[in-house]
Amino acid sequence: MNRESKQATRLLIRGVESPGRLEGLLLCGSLSKGDCVATMPSGQQSTVMNLQHQGTAIESAEAEANLAVELAYAVKASPGDILSGADLLPEYADQFEAALVWLGEDELLPGRNYQFQSNGGSTEALVSKLKYRLEPGTDKQIAANTLRLNETGVGNVALTTAVLFDPVLSCSALGKFQLLDRESSKVVAEGEIRHGLRRASNIHWQATDVDKASRAAIKNQVPRLIWMTGLSGSGKSTIANLLEKKLLSRRLHSYLLDGDNVRHGLNKDLGFTAADRVENIRRVAETSRLMLDAGLIVITCFISPFRAEREMARALFDDGEFIEIFVDTPLAVCEQRDPKGLYAKARAGDIKNFTGIDSPYETPERPELVIDTVRISVEEAADRIIDYLDAQG
Ligand code: ADP
Repeated sequence: MNRESKQATRLLIRGVESPGRLEGLLLCGSLSKGDCVATMPSGQQSTVMNLQHQGTAIESAEAEANLAVELAYAVKASPGDILSGADLLPEYADQFEAALVWLGEDELLPGRNYQFQSNGGSTEALVSKLKYRLEPGTDKQIAANTLRLNETGVGNVALTTAVLFDPVLSCSALGKFQLLDRESSKVVAEGEIRHGLRRASNIHWQATDVDKASRAAIKNQVPRLIWMTGLSGSGKSTIANLLEKKLLSRRLHSYLLDGDNVRHGLNKDLGFTAADRVENIRRVAETSRLMLDAGLIVITCFISPFRAEREMARALFDDGEFIEIFVDTPLAVCEQRDPKGLYAKARAGDIKNFTGIDSPYETPERPELVIDTVRISVEEAADRIIDYLDAQG
């Protein structure tokens, strides 16, 4: 059956009295006694034996009715699941193409994690690829990397876990969603799903017999990611360099990923706009993850100015693996040191989007360690990090 020609039947299950007795809200379509139905995502089928609306038995119901449904056979279902017509099931996927109306004061940052909410479930989401923006009035497609307040665009959305959904044309109640800022919980986008993308279900993580633990064990070490964050010139690279020497002298296997070096290769296509900074950090975090999987102790030196990206990076690692170190040097001191002459250029207007000058730095709220380089030397800073690692075993 053509999806567009028939209204899908979708009942959002809100309560499960017993395995065959459900209650919920009919989001779209109609439901009648005798209908063949399935609960999703379990996919188990049954038949509607009885329907009740506000305590009264009824033969059939239309969308927006709150219903109690008695099924012929017990099915696996929980609140939040969908009771669907058995002929036309909702999709279940973690990637889709969607139209977005941007409502956030801050522009859309592809690659940043937002909270995803819909009738099909809630999880985390990022806009993996913005395809175009629509010109107001004409709906002309314009190439775009971001969306600003009240702009509309189309892109691919990737979720952390799969949700149930329909293309908005089949069932608007299961095709619409919202993206929320993870810190403020403010709605930053209204979205409409166009169609699912199946790529994700074809790509599996290849399990290997030699794993992280065995790779680390032959190196006699515990893999860790030491994530240094702070303003340019705060001292991240200087401290990391000495730290790596100290690790090496203890015969530990490490790798230093430095912002400037990575921008010569892996990230040479990225600039310093907010969107590019997010992508920079995403790639660095994923690269570090592979290196930890190889059993290494990884040190990263990136300004990483946005809290959301540092949290996104942290979320890729097991508990205790990600050690956030805030190299807390006041802007005035960094500017006075100006080891690469960058502050002078930024003040002269020769460099745009420079952190601390015309681009924000969001101070870490709960870093594992804070290093005050005004009060302690490079040597002491490196020793404090070693002490922390020792204390964690
Ligand atoms: P970042 O990597 O954060 O951009 P760098 O390490 O490149 O910063 O530069 C920091 C500068 O500050 C270096 O020139 C370093 O010698 C100087 N510095 C002075 N005191 C300290 C300290 N206690 N810790 C780290 N760096 C310091």
